[in-house]
Amino acid sequence: MRKLSEVLHDWEAVIGLEVHTELTTLETKMFCGCRLSHDDPPNTNVCPICLGMPGALPVPNRKAIEYIVMAGIATNCEVMRRSMFYRKHYFYPDMAKNFQTTQGPVAFVMHGHLDLEIAGDGAKERPDGTIEKAIDGSYVAPIRILRIHMEEDAAKMVHVGGAEGRIGGASESLIDYNRCGTPLIELVTEPDLRTPEEARRFMEKLRQTFLTLGISDCSLEKGSMRCDGNVSLRRRGESGLGTKTELKNLNSFKSLHDALAYEICRQAEVLEAGGTVLQETRHWEPSRKRTVVMRVKETNDDYRFFPDPDLAPFDLSDEFIERCRARVPELPDTKRDRYVATWGLKRSDAAKLAGDPAVARRFEDASHGVKPQAVPMLANVMLNLVPAYKALTLLQITSITELLAADALSFSQARKVLEAVDGTGKMPLAVARDWGMLQSNDTEALAAVVDEVLGRCEAQVQQYRDGNKKVVGFLVGQCMKASKGAGNPKVFNQLLVQKLEG
Ligand code: ADP
Ligand code: MG
Ligand code: ZN
Repeated sequence: MRKLSEVLHDWEAVIGLEVHTELTTLETKMFCGCRLSHDDPPNTNVCPICLGMPGALPVPNRKAIEYIVMAGIATNCEVMRRSMFYRKHYFYPDMAKNFQTTQGPVAFVMHGHLDLEIAGDGAKERPDGTIEKAIDGSYVAPIRILRIHMEEDAAKMVHVGGAEGRIGGASESLIDYNRCGTPLIELVTEPDLRTPEEARRFMEKLRQTFLTLGISDCSLEKGSMRCDGNVSLRRRGESGLGTKTELKNLNSFKSLHDALAYEICRQAEVLEAGGTVLQETRHWEPSRKRTVVMRVKETNDDYRFFPDPDLAPFDLSDEFIERCRARVPELPDTKRDRYVATWGLKRSDAAKLAGDPAVARRFEDASHGVKPQAVPMLANVMLNLVPAYKALTLLQITSITELLAADALSFSQARKVLEAVDGTGKMPLAVARDWGMLQSNDTEALAAVVDEVLGRCEAQVQQYRDGNKKVVGFLVGQCMKASKGAGNPKVFNQLLVQKLEG
């Protein structure tokens, strides 16, 4: 098969995602009072309602509806005042009721968009004219969201025995109904994504948004956030849609990217050989790096879709909607822009901090402990140093930041100090002082070192005078060595240049 970059030269990929998110931060299931926990012993959080016993009646979880409305507001969706639940029928052991409760043509929230920053070359390929240029030269594309609807998760099945990794190869199947009835929201995008990388970035952005809302732990690993990828190809310059395939089992950002990349290349090969792409559901096999057919596409008619007579339609009041709106916290993009405006952070650094609510909170807490001019250094510390350690305290983070901002330590010295204080109550300042690391800014002492170095490095001094100004870096290195790392490299640099130019 051809490489993705070559294929995308001739073909345009059209990608839409369906993202399922379990509302794991709720206390109870969607239609009953069972505890929501996947860690309890199997089949302990069950009741007649989630097991679909005759006569049991569902009662919707109000908090779950608040959460989906918040998700809709955060993704610029319209809140639909009236919607209802439907039944989607199928037989499978993971659904004891023999139908899944989901929503029909009208979902709780619809017609939104999430802004995605895309690289310059991605933007050129979009004829839509919907792209705006962002401040730093990247582009912002609104990825349209068709709808977010509410449904319930199925039970968890574990297939044991038989050959590992083989679908259908197991000898026994176990079912844990604890998961069944877990509130699940499904977000469906319009086919607005154009590359596997954009799809991955969209999924990341959505995860950041839902994490910030606090509606889910959003773990792809544990399966609380799951994604199906739909993809088709068309010739560059064409505007119609080709036949799509739907990819399942994309349980990591890497799988999402790699499966789409594989599928784009596979479809191109089929089309270039004069064949047609079949509308089918395919399964991604990460170990073999390929997709295989699972089933040909079923339609809604096959599911005997109809409004659930046990659940009355919803009429959401203005008051309810406004209360949900008030609960939406500051979202990652707004936070990013505030960091840039308040402290002059680099936009990309600000975006990284703002993307993870736990990191953002820690960063803001620490920001109160350093001078405003040191906050960009704090951002640097949070992103590039802190993640490598287990249990740094806020005080340790602000202390190391001040030392770095004052040029009293180098980054490599800071790493050694953090290594020593991690998990202890010791302060970086005290450790650095004890270790004699604090860089000296005593100009007279440093000038003596500079004189000594210039005296023995005649060749480099001559090179400098001949115009090779870069050689000063070598001389700074010699000064650092001579002072056993105690001198401040910036001060050495200044002194060297003064003497060489003088
Ligand atoms: P289905 O009925 O097969 O589930 P939908 O129309 O509901 O299909 O769309 C499901 C997802 O597939 C959506 O994210 C949508 O954007 C995407 N999609 C629809 N048509 C195409 C296409 N031709 N190529 C790529 N993605 C598509
Ligand atoms: Mg679908
Ligand atoms: Zn129950």
